Amino acid sequence: MCGIVGYVGFRNAAPILIQGLRRLEYRGYDSFGIATLAGNVCVHKKTGKVSHISDSAEILQGTLGIGHTRWATHGIPSDINAHPHLDCNEKIAVVHNGIIENYASLKRDLIERGHIFRSDTDTEVIAHLLEEVYDDDLLVAVQKTLPFLAGSYAILVLSEGENRLIAARNQSPLVLGIGDGEIFAASDITPILEYTSRVIYLDDGDVADIRPEIYTVYMENKPVQKEINEITWTPDAVMKGGFAHYMLKEMFEQPDVIHHAVHAVIDSTLPRSLKEAKTITVVACGSSYHAGMIFRYLLEPACGIPVRLELGSEYKYTPVPFSDVIIGVSQSGETADTLAAVKKGICNNVRTVAITNVLNSSITRSAHDTILMHAGPEISVASSKSFIAQLGVLMQIVNLLAGGTCSEVLSHGRYAIEQILLTDITKAVDLCVSADHLFYVGRGVFYPVMMEGALKMKEISYIHAEAYAAGELKHGPFALLSPETPVIAICLPGTAYEVMLGNLKEMKARGTPIIALGIADDIELLEIADVVIPVPPAHQWIQVLTCTVLLQMIAYHTANALGREIDMPRNLAKSVTVE
Ligand code: GLU
Repeated sequence: MCGIVGYVGFRNAAPILIQGLRRLEYRGYDSFGIATLAGNVCVHKKTGKVSHISDSAEILQGTLGIGHTRWATHGIPSDINAHPHLDCNEKIAVVHNGIIENYASLKRDLIERGHIFRSDTDTEVIAHLLEEVYDDDLLVAVQKTLPFLAGSYAILVLSEGENRLIAARNQSPLVLGIGDGEIFAASDITPILEYTSRVIYLDDGDVADIRPEIYTVYMENKPVQKEINEITWTPDAVMKGGFAHYMLKEMFEQPDVIHHAVHAVIDSTLPRSLKEAKTITVVACGSSYHAGMIFRYLLEPACGIPVRLELGSEYKYTPVPFSDVIIGVSQSGETADTLAAVKKGICNNVRTVAITNVLNSSITRSAHDTILMHAGPEISVASSKSFIAQLGVLMQIVNLLAGGTCSEVLSHGRYAIEQILLTDITKAVDLCVSADHLFYVGRGVFYPVMMEGALKMKEISYIHAEAYAAGELKHGPFALLSPETPVIAICLPGTAYEVMLGNLKEMKARGTPIIALGIADDIELLEIADVVIPVPPAHQWIQVLTCTVLLQMIAYHTANALGREIDMPRNLAKSVTVE
């Protein structure tokens, strides 16, 4: 959640910081701010969007600065609570991502010692602690301060009179970008890509001293060598490229994404722990959880390996991990709950496999094995291509464990998605736009597909959408059906077909408008449904992909018709780095 960015070099820092914050907007935030050093510490901070930044911020002088997009955890979103935060003398500025858990007692002590606090944030204690120990060396001051902090942090600090930034990381991501005569720091690589492809991923406990030409990273106050990684993502990957929204662009990238994801793992790179597993647990949150559910529906019949599925946030309440291997699925690789679950598995001697999109993210450094899904950066908060990539990787795992029996099927994914993106879904959107409530129903593997479809609708259109296993509707939710509550259903030939048709008739009898994803010339379905969206006949796995994409399209175009802020839905953050 939130983002931080820093710059030390030869250019004006303010425009670079502002541009960097724009690139980080997708992570979710409620306020933002920057501080530069031009003799004095100059600060500009506000609630609202970076795009509303006033010209006065652009003209802040100085070739050194820090910036922040805040996702409030302590203190309401307000101009005062926005970062950076300063010490009493306004000589030290701090931006922080994370939570200082012991801030309350630290703050009490600092107030007793005469410090004046301006904000309600936990972060401000850092600035005052630094002030107490500062003696013309910011690095030493940070090293002396960190042992007092409990909690999670990625921190950037600057101080009057010193041409350097100090960065520190503990359980919150932080990356350095190494340019020529300039160095960047940020929560992820998106603000850095347009300046340099050389990056260093800081680890928990690292403290970096960053100057224009040189940097040193310390661990336990001793310098350490850090590997410089060459990034292959291009700057274009984080631009909209002519699409109205990042989400739309990312949906249209899905034909390539499925192709790369399926090839992300092959027999020789499939972790041994998976090959040998008798039982598997998948831990994930949000969309990734739905991908895990689909995995269970596919793996159990194909290989007879029982899959246990856990929400990352609930996993800590289960007594012990039961399986031979835990798969942690997280797009960003920073999802705090999933990360905690993976660590719990490791503590209990369970092998762990991370499936993520982000090289060197925290989960990749914890898990024993990693499968990267190669979807490229996903900027829209609501995931589309990363979900498809997760399905690609997970389907390939099932395929490999089943001896490659579905390789041929998987090779059709790219073309199938390419074609489905051309479907006309206008009539379905017309029905959804005027609804306050929607039900999504499916059976078997199409139940989690519907859960993902409903989540997409909720996230970006703000329409209340609930997914049910179709058989469950009669056990309560039926009471809510009316001519004002459209139902979206997947009704495809297969084992659940007849019973689904029956369910739809029962709904129709209550006057409920029905949008069905089905086969184009299905006469019976055409008679029942108000709108039939054609799904080409194909192997079930391919239909999982095509139905997923159709539901993304319905959510996207409904949200667009309602004028929603599709890429940055209210209250949401891209990577949920707090529990
Ligand atoms: N805990 C800090 C605050 O509420 C930082 C939140 C964030 O990571 O944006 O200001």
